[in-house]
Amino acid sequence: MEYISTRGNYKSVNSAEAISLGMVPEGGLFVPEEIPKLELAEIMEMKDQSYQELAVWIFNKFLSDFSESEIEESVKAAYQKESFPRSEKTPLIKLDQNTYILELWHGPTAAFKDMALQILPQLLVRAVKNLEVEKEIVILVATSGDTGKAALEGFKDVEGVKIIVFYPEDGVSRVQEDQMKTTGGSNTEVVSLKGNFDDCQTAVKNIFADKEFRAKMEANNFQFSSANSINWGRLLPQIVYYFKAYFEIVKENQVKAGNKINIAVPTGNFGNILAAYYAYRMGLPVNKFICASNDNKVLTDFLETGIYNIEREFKKTISPSMDILISSNLERFLFEVTDHDSSKIKEWYQKLKSENKFVIDQQTKAKIQHLFSGHYSTETEAKAVIKTTFNNFNYLLDPHTAVGVDSLNKYRQQNKDQTTAVIASTANPYKFSRAVLESLKEEKIEQDEYRIIEELNDLTAAKVHRGLRGLENMESKHQHSCDKNSVKEKVAEILKLSN
Ligand SMILES: *Cc1c(COP(=O)(O)O)cnc(C)c1O
Repeated sequence: MEYISTRGNYKSVNSAEAISLGMVPEGGLFVPEEIPKLELAEIMEMKDQSYQELAVWIFNKFLSDFSESEIEESVKAAYQKESFPRSEKTPLIKLDQNTYILELWHGPTAAFKDMALQILPQLLVRAVKNLEVEKEIVILVATSGDTGKAALEGFKDVEGVKIIVFYPEDGVSRVQEDQMKTTGGSNTEVVSLKGNFDDCQTAVKNIFADKEFRAKMEANNFQFSSANSINWGRLLPQIVYYFKAYFEIVKENQVKAGNKINIAVPTGNFGNILAAYYAYRMGLPVNKFICASNDNKVLTDFLETGIYNIEREFKKTISPSMDILISSNLERFLFEVTDHDSSKIKEWYQKLKSENKFVIDQQTKAKIQHLFSGHYSTETEAKAVIKTTFNNFNYLLDPHTAVGVDSLNKYRQQNKDQTTAVIASTANPYKFSRAVLESLKEEKIEQDEYRIIEELNDLTAAKVHRGLRGLENMESKHQHSCDKNSVKEKVAEILKLSN
């Protein structure tokens, strides 16, 4: 299987190269040249397999240049018991008669990003070895909070790799910041940036696209890669759990094998929902994708109008991991729905850069609307859903998942479509405990986040995720900071680059 650029500006590469490069050096993203299409019978044969077996099955289809044992070893290391104690890895909770919550946050850092970031380092070190790259790999990460810690945990003390994480100074919670700053490991660096997440992401993207700086890196025996969801090695692992969820729903006799489900995903960079779309293209029976946004509703507007317009106020919300205006993975999706029309993608993304917006053609828009429905929730709405869900079902939602639940409700009301739905639950509620407690108590809460965790625990008896216990008393190990225009200089400083 070969990987090609969404902008038609790069040679095709194998998966090892796509993963080790992270993104196309000239701009653009790697996508599989062809998506393996499976018959229903072939899919249903897998229904009793473990999570790990499903992962191996799917990875083998996309990573054809990896040996089977490399894939098996990677999967085994990533989804071991210490990192994911629950045997099912992604427990599926039935909320009501036709709604399921897919809990994706049982990994070490309490956010769904662990599902991919525990395995990406495994794939990356094997890819680099196979490509005989002698250079040290430098992972640059822009994070809105959750990716940073998940990437740090995944890459901590991985040989031949350095990781540098940039997060927006005022854009992450205290717990998220502490999670990152307390990370050990001799190869980890954490930098707070004066700006928002888009500033972080743009700075990192610009470094990737900076030929001069790359040359300097190479001269110093370093090579960049990315652990952001623009890396194919981040997306691929996320396909697995949608199959797993479907199999469980079928085995419960909720739907018949082959019948369609709906999938609702609280969306930021469009990675998680894109993985669901890839699962669908492989043959998973899906009726509609519900793309859930918060007040930064660029995607909701885009799905309705066909206009992607980032000229708007960036809003900080109680679901910060979705506070994003430039959803990078949308580019891959547009490439797929235009049947790989790289000239269109190039044109649209040049427009986005020069005019802050682009408009897709009617035909593409119709195709997208047939499959995707965009909805958004205000903070007040998300908080109300957290409260009613706890009151009605004794189930505690985090603010991101709450946006997913609320969007599904809105979709159902507007479309009278009661198809069984799966909502991707992207974080443990304790990771965003202030907003959750404020929702339950319907009042503003000023106290320290760690006291809030205790109070929330007293109030709900929901178990505190192990990754968040004891954090308060751990030593902070990182103090770097920089402004948004000096990210490159900061990287050079950290790596001690000489000319
Ligand atoms: C990253 C993240 C999201 C958004 O996922 P994308 O793949 O970027 O769309 C949603 N919720 C939480 C808790 C996250 O950490």
